Amino acid sequence: MIETEKPEHAIRQLATLLACARRIVAFTGAGISTESGIPDFRSPGGVWDKNQPIQYADFLADVEARRETWRRGMQTYPVVAAASPNAAHIALVELARRGQLTAVVTQNIDGLHLRAGHAPETVIELHGNAHGVRCLGCEMHAPRTAVHERVLAGESEPACIACGGILKPTTISFGEPMPRGPLAAAERAVRAADLMVVVGSSLVVYPAAGLPLLAAQLGTPVVIVNQTPTPLDERATLLVRGKAAELLPPAVELAAAIR
Ligand code: NAD
Repeated sequence: MIETEKPEHAIRQLATLLACARRIVAFTGAGISTESGIPDFRSPGGVWDKNQPIQYADFLADVEARRETWRRGMQTYPVVAAASPNAAHIALVELARRGQLTAVVTQNIDGLHLRAGHAPETVIELHGNAHGVRCLGCEMHAPRTAVHERVLAGESEPACIACGGILKPTTISFGEPMPRGPLAAAERAVRAADLMVVVGSSLVVYPAAGLPLLAAQLGTPVVIVNQTPTPLDERATLLVRGKAAELLPPAVELAAAIR
């Protein structure tokens, strides 16, 4: 494992790995979007400094938990809806444009990888997407904005307009089973990868964090670009400490020159 002290050394090491790779999988977490103005969960000032997560079982069983979900959404959804991709999201699109990046596997629900311009079939959103709602009764899907407007207008627990059932944002809650499809697709991408680049994740949320671990177990080089230590640092080929939007773009640019 290499941990470089100076950012310019880290950028050069990362660029060298990127330049040689042909099937890069990026694994991203909330840290890639903090520079777009969306707080992460675990940094100081992050979401968990303010609120503990609402468990899926509580959402199903307790009307008060559902009302609290929509109340919190009044604060958090406008921030996500207004955010734009930053230089780190765009650097990953550049790798895809060069034909070197096969998939972005993200824990994020902000939709910023898609908005940055990746082909939709190459973005795997493990924890869903905050921009939609679904009915737990009839499975109707709708854009979040329409329901957000209803809550703004005073509905504390908006019901499905088709069947009266419980609506839920199309994100995966704590304690909610993850859909098999995205996880299986992510696993396939990791098994085919020749480089795993982790960006902005504390790597403590499972099963998602099992994917970089799988890459390491397969002997695939793993780079971790993160501001703080993670439990997988020991297994990484390269650790790049610092802000993703400052470090990834110059590394991607330099990689083009090295190739
Ligand atoms: P996390 O909050 O546990 O960890 C974020 C990590 O990113 C931290 O280790 C932090 O040091 C690092 N970081 C913060 N800003 C950074 C930056 N500019 N550059 C590099 N690193 C930076 O997030 P997680 O690992 O994604 O797991 C938490 C869960 O939170 C996920 O399941 C995700 O669905 C959800 N979440 C998503 C969003 C979003 O969609 N933007 C925001 C908050 C939480």
